[in-house]
Parts: sequence; structure tokens; C-alpha cells
Amino acid sequence: MADCALCNAMEDKSTTFYEGKLAAAIVLTHPVTEFHCLVLPKRHVTRLSELRADELKEMFGIMARMSSFIEESYPGSAVIAINRKGNSTQPHLHFHVFNSTVGGIRAMLAPALGKEFYPPYTKEELMHRAEEYRKFVSAKLTD
Ligand SMILES: [Zn+2]
Repeated sequence: MADCALCNAMEDKSTTFYEGKLAAAIVLTHPVTEFHCLVLPKRHVTRLSELRADELKEMFGIMARMSSFIEESYPGSAVIAINRKGNSTQPHLHFHVFNSTVGGIRAMLAPALGKEFYPPYTKEELMHRAEEYRKFVSAKLTD
């Protein structure tokens, strides 16, 4: 969809670290936590119930690999969250994958209480992260 920010974000090959037949994954410019990324269907879909089984399979494969990456890189654990129609800045269905900070998901919600988010990435940091994730996820996706 031409006017969708997430459809357009998948076109940026410097930050799209996985692109398969049906799904993609991108590093976020403004992460909530250090390893925050999005996994989304390539098809413009707005509701979970619109996803096909093959899209779900590919997306959950990416999320499982990113969860492993996070858990191998960070003392905490991975968290997966889904946007809800009407409760997101982007209508394109997407899953957030990120590391749980010390204090778990409650601490992650601290920005809503006036504390800072993880600092925004520079363009160089974004590209470095994308390359790091790309190597890990591609090596693990052998299906
Ligand atoms: Zn879209």
C-alpha cells in the first residue's frame, strides 16, 4: 500500500534484516528496548484474523529466531507483543520483538510514566543492528 509507513519501511534494505516470501523484519529507529524490532507480513493486512497459515508460520519462525538471538545476547528474555487495530500508530499488522528489561514488562512500560525510552539509533547503528540480526536470523532459517 503506497501510503503505509510499514509497507514503505520494508523497502529500506539497510534496516530490513529479513525478507522472505511472505514476511519481513525491520530494526526500529526508535526502539523501546535495545533489541526492539518488528516482524510483519509483506501483504498489507490490518487484522490478525486476516493472516493466512503460511504467513503466520513464516512470521513465527522469524520471531522464534529473534527470541533466541535476544536470549543469547542479553541476560533477560524476549517479549513478543502484537499491535491492535485502533491501538497503534500503524494500521499494518505487526509484532514487536524486544528484550525484557530488568524489572520485566512493568519496567518496559516506564516510558508511559515519564521515563526515557532506549535512545534512538543513529543511521549507522541501525545498519549495524540490521546486519547483526540478518546474519543470525538467516543462519537459523533453514526451512
Ligand atoms: Zn502496509
